Amino acid sequence: MKVLLLFAHPEARSLNGALRDVAVAELRRQGHEVQVSDLYAQGWKAAIDRADFPGLAANERLVPAAASKAAFEVGDLTQDVQEEIDKLRWADVLILQFPLWWFSMPAILKGWVDRVYACGFAYGVGEHSDKRWGDRYGEGNLAGKRAMLIVTTGGWEPHYGARGVNGPIGDLLFPIHHGILFYPGYDVLPPFVVYQTGRLDEAGFEATAEQLRERMRTLATTPPIPYRRQNGGDYLIPSMELRPGLGAPSRTGFALHLRDEDAGSSR
Ligand code: FAD
Repeated sequence: MKVLLLFAHPEARSLNGALRDVAVAELRRQGHEVQVSDLYAQGWKAAIDRADFPGLAANERLVPAAASKAAFEVGDLTQDVQEEIDKLRWADVLILQFPLWWFSMPAILKGWVDRVYACGFAYGVGEHSDKRWGDRYGEGNLAGKRAMLIVTTGGWEPHYGARGVNGPIGDLLFPIHHGILFYPGYDVLPPFVVYQTGRLDEAGFEATAEQLRERMRTLATTPPIPYRRQNGGDYLIPSMELRPGLGAPSRTGFALHLRDEDAGSSR
């Protein structure tokens, strides 16, 4: 398989840097082709602004989605964005690796998503009518590919458990899993999360590295998080609400978007 690893940590000699090297070495050992986008090393520009749309007239109002769509359609995206889109098309598997910063991804990685997910490529895809609300949530240009997160946290695992004060890790990662990865079509694998990194000693690192190697060995076979597909019949159009009768009455929030037979899952 072809694997693209997006790496968002400013220091190569960090725990994240060491885990990236472990993942890449194991993937190559398995015969996979690997590309790494090292966002800090690339000097990735995180914020969308006028410079992203060289075709936009100086006096024209910047409407980011419209400018993105126009630039995507005529092949006028900036070179850095176009190169990342080409890598996404190339890769069978996308891995996002980052330290959890303020319960989310570092700004540089969010900025990668904002800029690389062009309109017409990652959103605004497919028929939008009273019968269909586009190709998204399981469909779209990245359908058929797999994606997963490698995340490190300072907080302890129980802090992120079902009753933990930080909120369940599956809920915190839902906007990335469902909103950023499932939206343009990826099958999303359960995340690889390393908790309590401040206490990691050499033995803990080795155990973590081995668990990560195992996840890299099973990339093709790990079952994805069983999200409901938007166009699979579970949602009303155009309100896009889950149909009455689906989802146990006791269930609310993000877990509603897991298929009923799988909703007991903690992901
Ligand atoms: P490093 O600091 O590089 O390393 C951590 C430890 O791992 C080291 O002390 C060392 O013991 C060990 N280690 C590193 N490399 C190796 C190696 N090669 N071999 C063996 N051991 C090694 N945490 C949360 O839980 N929630 C948050 O919302 C959150 N927000 C944050 C916001 C900011 C702005 C920052 C700076 C931190 C935040 N944190 C948060 C903590 C953050 O998630 C962790 O500091 C981070 O995940 C640790 O990853 P690292 O790669 O930076 O680790």
